[in-house]
Amino acid sequence: PACLACRYFPVNMGACGNQKQTDEEASRKEIEKLQKQLHDKDVIIKAQSKEIEELKSKQYLGHVSPIPSPNKAGTNLNQTPAKPAYSGPGGGVETKCKLTILHFNDVYNIEPMNEYQGGAARFMAVVNQFKKEDPLILFSGDAFNPSVLSTVTHGKQMPPVLNKIGVHVACYGNHDFDFGEETAKQLTSQTKFPWLLSNIVNKKTKLPLGDAKESIIITHKGLRVGIFAAADDWTDTMPMPPDEGMLYIDYVQKSKELVKKLKSDPSGAPDLIIALTHARLPSDRELCLKVEGIDLVLGGHDHLYHVEQFTKPKGNKVQPPVLVKSGSDFRDLSSVRLYNDRKQEEGIYKGGRYAFHIERCQVGKNVTEDPEMLDIVEEVSKDTEALFNTPLGTVEADLDARFKIVRSQECAVGNLLADVARRAYDVKGGVDLGYIVGGTIRSDSIYKKGEFSYKKILRMLPFQDNTVVITLTGQQFWDSLEHGLSSYPKLDGRFPHVSGCALVFDPSKGKGSRVVSCKLLDSDGYYTIPIDPKKRYTIATREFLFKGGDGYSELAKGEAVVDEENGHPLSFLLRNFF
Ligand SMILES: [Zn+2]
Repeated sequence: PACLACRYFPVNMGACGNQKQTDEEASRKEIEKLQKQLHDKDVIIKAQSKEIEELKSKQYLGHVSPIPSPNKAGTNLNQTPAKPAYSGPGGGVETKCKLTILHFNDVYNIEPMNEYQGGAARFMAVVNQFKKEDPLILFSGDAFNPSVLSTVTHGKQMPPVLNKIGVHVACYGNHDFDFGEETAKQLTSQTKFPWLLSNIVNKKTKLPLGDAKESIIITHKGLRVGIFAAADDWTDTMPMPPDEGMLYIDYVQKSKELVKKLKSDPSGAPDLIIALTHARLPSDRELCLKVEGIDLVLGGHDHLYHVEQFTKPKGNKVQPPVLVKSGSDFRDLSSVRLYNDRKQEEGIYKGGRYAFHIERCQVGKNVTEDPEMLDIVEEVSKDTEALFNTPLGTVEADLDARFKIVRSQECAVGNLLADVARRAYDVKGGVDLGYIVGGTIRSDSIYKKGEFSYKKILRMLPFQDNTVVITLTGQQFWDSLEHGLSSYPKLDGRFPHVSGCALVFDPSKGKGSRVVSCKLLDSDGYYTIPIDPKKRYTIATREFLFKGGDGYSELAKGEAVVDEENGHPLSFLLRNFF
């Protein structure tokens, strides 16, 4: 059966996909909790009770809901939409609206996330509802990866989907380069719209990656709209960086330059200036407050739904832009309607030279799928079974992944995976340590030497949470090892597999004092350097463990160097290893 909820549940070939933990509103958490409960037999009976049915239908109706107006401080975080005041898109909107913009970002799974939300075909149906307004459709990056499908298609499923949606302009996200710059270029060449990126450039050519334009002016509904891109620095976490290397240019500096360039366009300054960003919320806020002349910032990278109006800083000539971030994974869409001016009321935000009416459209289960998009989704997914079985390479030895092995002793497969995690990220000159646990390695079987396919990888590593790189003190790492060894000789999922160190433990000692030594690699390749309890080390591990999974409270104390949004699933890293 398809997984309805839990992100640490074996992948069901796209049905579950790559659900990510996001800082989303409580209502979504509530639903997820419910869905999780649905796994449980006895709760299924309860699920039929009116109460739960009511809650489900309340949350994902697919309706368009207004967002409450900003509070006094001008900051309005993660608003949960109030009860719907509009019958549908266009309803109740004043006639003076000069332009409607539709915005979305970070889309990974073209199939529905679950029975309640998402899916490109439902998303399309919501977009269709705006057709009569001839909207300008803008996308803020991350489409080609990661998803189970993209791991075998390398993102090929996305151009037809994005074309069908009718995107006018997009900016690149970090994950659009997961299969290398050449693949990104090939994929974007199949799209019918331009891709922007300004401040991440090829070190040699000094040009933006992926043949991107820095900015563009397009005319839509008689308005000249200037759009430029700005991104956070994700150069450290790209799995296949360009051979010549990359340069990151500060986004505030670059954005100032691009606003100036747009304003001094030979045909005159644009009527509206939009920043399309693939950056974290604090960076987007900095952009809003430090760069004058932008009317609207449409951001991605964070997977949260967020709208914010700012108070004009002292000395600024114009109002800072409105900031909109539109959720993720075809579950949310923002409609942003532009007015010369509107009085400050519910749903109205002042940004730059305009007032915007902003609505959050949730793509829920009551939306009827668009049949044409459904055909596209079926078409692009149909040959994937064969691809899943295509050999990626060969392994030279049997990989014994039986529970009794991986949950109690050092073994080839544990070492391999810890090595793969540690070597995947080139942060700060290399990651010191790799840390995974026996419970990561599933399927309880021996993988015979010979050809290895992605299907085998997914069977071995079904969890789709990302790997992360964190820093911990030597003492915290040591304590993590103690925790991992505490239930030995009981077969336990927390049993550690490490890379970058040699670990000796004495099971005859009591819990919490079993580690005898933990020595790190010296420059000659020998394990001679005792771990320093006070020094901070970089450790590649799984998001699941970093969140304290399997009782790893020490790993949860780490500070992220590569966080879960920038990391990749272990299955993806192993696939790249071949
Ligand atoms: Zn991203």
